[in-house]
Amino acid sequence: MPDAILSIAGLSKSYATGFKALKNIDLEIRRGEIFALLGPNGAGKTTLISIVCGIVNASTGRVTVDGHDIAADYRAARALIGLVPQELTTEAFETVWNTVSFSRGLFGKPAKPAHIEKVLRDLSLWDKKDNPIRTLSGGMKRRLLIAKALSHEPQLLFLDEPTAGVDVTLRQEMWALVRTLRDTGVTIILTTHYIDEAEEMADRIGVISKGEIILVEDKVELMRKLGKKQLTLQLA
Ligand code: ATP
Repeated sequence: MPDAILSIAGLSKSYATGFKALKNIDLEIRRGEIFALLGPNGAGKTTLISIVCGIVNASTGRVTVDGHDIAADYRAARALIGLVPQELTTEAFETVWNTVSFSRGLFGKPAKPAHIEKVLRDLSLWDKKDNPIRTLSGGMKRRLLIAKALSHEPQLLFLDEPTAGVDVTLRQEMWALVRTLRDTGVTIILTTHYIDEAEEMADRIGVISKGEIILVEDKVELMRKLGKKQLTLQLA
């Protein structure tokens, strides 16, 4: 594929239990797109993200990020990826500024206060920069997760179920935010259980089921071909 930022070829994963979580996945992500990976519980979404981010080893296959092999050239490949998990874990007493600055440091990048300021301003967190994290609202905590992931200037951003467990208002806010991020040039991959989320945000949609990518399609084309009801049935 011309100008793919992420290439996944022949990727399989068997866990120690013998369970095959991923089966021969081939997937290419285009620079600048929003790609939604849609699948039910246990389909293999988290396993796939974990391998691409170098957290879990693949059993077979190859992942390259902008030409860097995640296994052979981990530091260079990982530095290009921002990972937005579903929840904040620690840092309750740390300030917003320190948390985001520290995240950048983890990638061995030199301090760049102007970038941290830009990220916090873009995510409407600038006014809260000196506040401890425990004082933030749920929506602000979600934005902080994204700020952390953007701290080291990644080219590829993974959002793991960005609207799981959030209310309707925050869901709309997250959707708008993701579109704004894409407009800054970041390529976005999000995982979701929700067809309406994929339809709302993605340029292309991939469907994963039982460890296999069963479909990759341009969003508009997919909606035209299938319609929501049929895709929901297929996933059930
Ligand atoms: P969800 O939407 O619920 O997060 P998912 O699509 O992200 O699901 P994964 O978490 O990747 O799915 O899990 C895929 C399958 O692999 C599941 O059946 C899960 O039980 C299994 N699995 C995940 N991690 C392990 C592990 N460490 N050892 C054994 N099996 C595992």
